[in-house]
Amino acid sequence: MGPRKSYWRRGLTAVTALVLTGIGLAAGQTSANAAVACDVTYTKSWEGGGGFGANITVKNLGDALSNWTLTFAFPNGQRVSNGWSGQWSQSGSNVSVRNESYNGSQGSGASWTLGFNGTFSGSNASPTSFAINGTTCNGGSNPSPSPSPSPSPSPSPSPSPSPGQQALVVSPTSVTVPEGSTATYGVRLARQPSSNVTVTSTAGSGDSDITVTGGSSLTFTSSNWNTAQNVTLSAREDSDTTSGTRSISVASSGLTSVNVTATEADNDGGTNPGHVDNPYAGATGYVNSDWSTQAAAEPGGSAVANVSTGVWIDRIAAIEGSSSAKGVRAHLDAAVQQDAANGSTPLTIQFVIYNLPNRDCSALASNGELKISENGLARYKTEYIDPIAAILGDSKYSNLRIVTIVEIDSLPNLVTNTNLAACAEAKSSGAYVDGVRYALNKLHAIQNVYTYVDAGHHGWLGWDSNFRPSAQLFAETVRGTTAGFASVDGFITNTANYSALQEPHFTINTQVNGQSVRQSKWVDWNYYVDELGYAQAFRQELVSQGFNSNIGMLIDTSRNGWGGSARPAAPSTSTNVDTFVNDSRVDRRIHAGNWCNQSGAGMGERPRANPATGLDAYVWIKPPGESDGASEEIPNNEGKGFDRMCDPTYTGNDRNGNNRTGALPNAPISGKWFSAQFRQLLANAYPPIN
Ligand code: BGC
Repeated sequence: MGPRKSYWRRGLTAVTALVLTGIGLAAGQTSANAAVACDVTYTKSWEGGGGFGANITVKNLGDALSNWTLTFAFPNGQRVSNGWSGQWSQSGSNVSVRNESYNGSQGSGASWTLGFNGTFSGSNASPTSFAINGTTCNGGSNPSPSPSPSPSPSPSPSPSPSPGQQALVVSPTSVTVPEGSTATYGVRLARQPSSNVTVTSTAGSGDSDITVTGGSSLTFTSSNWNTAQNVTLSAREDSDTTSGTRSISVASSGLTSVNVTATEADNDGGTNPGHVDNPYAGATGYVNSDWSTQAAAEPGGSAVANVSTGVWIDRIAAIEGSSSAKGVRAHLDAAVQQDAANGSTPLTIQFVIYNLPNRDCSALASNGELKISENGLARYKTEYIDPIAAILGDSKYSNLRIVTIVEIDSLPNLVTNTNLAACAEAKSSGAYVDGVRYALNKLHAIQNVYTYVDAGHHGWLGWDSNFRPSAQLFAETVRGTTAGFASVDGFITNTANYSALQEPHFTINTQVNGQSVRQSKWVDWNYYVDELGYAQAFRQELVSQGFNSNIGMLIDTSRNGWGGSARPAAPSTSTNVDTFVNDSRVDRRIHAGNWCNQSGAGMGERPRANPATGLDAYVWIKPPGESDGASEEIPNNEGKGFDRMCDPTYTGNDRNGNNRTGALPNAPISGKWFSAQFRQLLANAYPPIN
C-alpha cells in the first residue's frame, strides 16, 4: 500500500510464446482407454540479469482430472526460485508441480495457467517436453494405451463422443437479478460437437417477475462450442418487498439439464435487513478469530484482540480457505453466530476484494496471482468475483451487513502511475475499470452488501494534479455500472497506510514566519496534511462529480496512531518552516511516500461509526501485525515480489525523495504475521492502549 510513486524493478523483455505440442488430440476426440491428453504452452514473461519468469498453460484434452502433476526438465540447468498456482519442487533439472487444492479438478477442455520466476546462467532454452500425471503432452504421437490414432475416415472433428461425454457447462448457477434490472449467466459445451447443438433456457417455477429476456435459445457449433454465450435474466419492477426466486432450466436434447436459481434483489425496501445508509451505525463488528488468535498470543495483545478487522480475500484460494485460514463461508458462518450472540444489534463484517489482474501495479510487495496478459480479467470475473458474489448472496447471510472494500490501490494508479508498464497495461486494456465495474455490479446486486471503493490517501492524491482527475475517473467508472452511482455506498482512504488521522499542531493554513507549511519539504505543496481533512474534502469532490450526496467515507485507522515517546506534545516554536513542520508533526515517517512496515507507527483510533462529518466510520481494514512486504527476497507462491521500499537498508528513489524507507527489518511477505511489528504498533498506539 502506499503513495504508489514506486518504480518497476525488472526490465520486461519481449514476450516469446512457444506452442510446444500443438498437435494433441482433437478436442472432443476420445479413444477407448484415453485418460490423459494435453497441450502445453510455455511462455517466457521476462528475462534479464540471470533471472527470468515463465507461464505455463496446460490444456486438458483428455478426460476430466481431479488431480494433476506436471513434470518437465530444464535443458540448461535453470532453477525455479518461486512458483505459483501449484506446489513446485525441483530435483536436478527435473521440475514437478502438483496442483493446489483449488485447481486440481480440471474438466475436459479446461485450460489453466501456472508460473514461476527462476534463474539461469548462460543459456536459457525452454523445456521441450511436458507430462501430466506421467503422460507426455504430445497428443497424436502419444504412446498411450489408446489404439493408434488411425485417422478416422470421417472428416475432422471426430465422430461425436458418446452422449454421456457431452455436457452443458453453466456458470454461475445461482444469479442475483436486481429488481428493475438484468443479470446474466454463461453457457457453453464441455466438448466439441459434431453438429450444431441448441441449448434453451426456460423459466420454471417461482417468482414470475423473473424472466429470460436474452439468449433463451443458443446455438453452439463445432467451432464456437467452447466460448460461453450469455443468457440474460430480467427482474420486472414490482411493489412487493420480498426477493423472489425462480428456477431456470438450461436444456438440450439428449443432455442432462442444468438448473439455475435466479434471485431477485428487491428494491422496495421491505426485506430484512434492508440496505441502510451507514452499515456501521448501531452495529457491532465481526471479530476474525484467525487474526484475533494471533493478536491475543502477543504480550498485551488481548487488549485489542476483539477489535473488528478486515478479512482480505487476496487470492482465489482464499475464497475456499485452508486449514489455517477460514474461507469466505466460514467467516460468514462465524459472523452469523456472533450476530446471534449480540442480541438484536446488527453485525457488520468487512471483506477486502483484492485480486484484480496486474494487482499493485506500481509496486511489487503485493503483486497477485492474475495477469492481464494471461486472461486475468476473465479469471477475475469467473473464478473470483462470481463465486464470492454467490456466497455473499446466500440467504443464510442476509441479516448480516456485509461491507466490501473494493480493490485498493487500483484506480488511483491509473491516474498517477501509468509511466510504469503494469499500470499502463491496466489502463490501456481497461482491465481495472472493467474489473471494478464487474465487482460493483455483482456486489451491489446483493441487498445487504455495501461497497466502498478505494480512494488512496492524502499523501497520494492530495495534490491538484491527482485530486480531481481521480474523482473524475471514479465517477466515469461507476457511471458505467448497471445501477450507476447507486452501486457505491462510499469510499475508503488510507487503507493499509500510515497517514496520520489529524495533525493536531498545524493545519494546511498554518504560516511560519510568513511562509505556508505547504512550502515545507514534508508537505511538499500538498493541499492536505492529514487524512480526515482529505477524506472530507474528497467526499465533496466526489459528490460534485455526480456521486450521491449520502455517500460516506471510511478511514483505515489501524496503523496511523503515531503515539509513543516520539509524538510531539506541542507545536514547535521554530521560525523555520521545515523545522517547524518536522518538529510538530505526529506522523514520524521519514517521508510521506514511505508505506512499508513503518518504524515508529502505532495503532490508531479504534473502529467506530459516525466519528466526524461525512464519515461512516473509522475502521481497521489492514489487520495490525500483518506485514506489508518482505524486507528481503522471499520465494513464495502468491505472486508477491520483493519491493525494496520494504528494505530498511535501501536509500530510496525519486518516489520517496531518495530517503531511507523507514521499514522495519526482518519482515515476512505481505499478509504474514510480523510479531515485532504488532508489538510496536501496540506500544505506540494513539489513543494509547492500556
Ligand atoms: C497483502 C495481502 C494481505 C493483506 C492483509 C496485503 O498487503 O498483499 O496478502 O491479505 O495485506 O494483511
